[in-house]
Amino acid sequence: MQQKLIQIFNSAGINLTTMQVAQFENYYNLIIDYNSRINLTAITEPVDVIIKHFLDSVLPYKELQENATIIDVGTGAGFPLIPLKILRPDLKVTLVDALNKRVNFLKEVVSDLKLDNTTCIHSRAEDLAIKLDYRQKFDYCVARAVAKLNTLSELTLPFVKVGGKLIAYKSDISEELDSASNALSILGGNLEKILSFELPQNMGTRNIIVIKKVSDTPTKYPRGANKPKSNPL
Ligand code: SAH
Repeated sequence: MQQKLIQIFNSAGINLTTMQVAQFENYYNLIIDYNSRINLTAITEPVDVIIKHFLDSVLPYKELQENATIIDVGTGAGFPLIPLKILRPDLKVTLVDALNKRVNFLKEVVSDLKLDNTTCIHSRAEDLAIKLDYRQKFDYCVARAVAKLNTLSELTLPFVKVGGKLIAYKSDISEELDSASNALSILGGNLEKILSFELPQNMGTRNIIVIKKVSDTPTKYPRGANKPKSNPL
């Protein structure tokens, strides 16, 4: 595991410290251990986890300013923000998921890996984003595999400060971008750029959509009662 991890990250231009290697290995072992009891991921082979979860998660690490505040909405087993935090210990991290079993797993990961400035919250995004302590308080919001971009922007942009960014991980983008343009303009988002990466060993293309928060999100968003998903903007 260690050698493969070092080698795969190296070939992507990332040199891991001894501590980061130990943290990724520890994280891997926790995922495999908990996965037998709670459903965390279908991907379990070491090389697959290293490429499709760990490397994939850290791809936009150069985009993030030092000491930034960052929230991961629908983080599940901690993707993408746990790998980003391992690589970028300066980040001030909030992890949110609607499933308490996964949040309890994340608390164990945070404690075992000794991650500082990391908070795990059990909540739906719609409920958390209307609280003053969380609304428009973050430099960045990241999200991977949570919802289509029109729904996702309602669940995420309310957390982002004006001037901050939403960073959405997507495999296919063209159709989603078109159908999200109305939601983005209502919620105060503006497409800044799309970053494209080829994962090693032909494991696919990853697109990362960077959306800048250019104006306040109107207070009536996000809507409750599952509306962001059942009736997207
Ligand atoms: N981001 C992770 C998990 C994706 S699965 C990864 O890429 O592997 C989607 C996760 O989003 C699930 O854990 C689910 O509980 C969570 N989720 C879905 N809708 C949510 C919402 N409205 N608020 C908070 N979490 C949500």
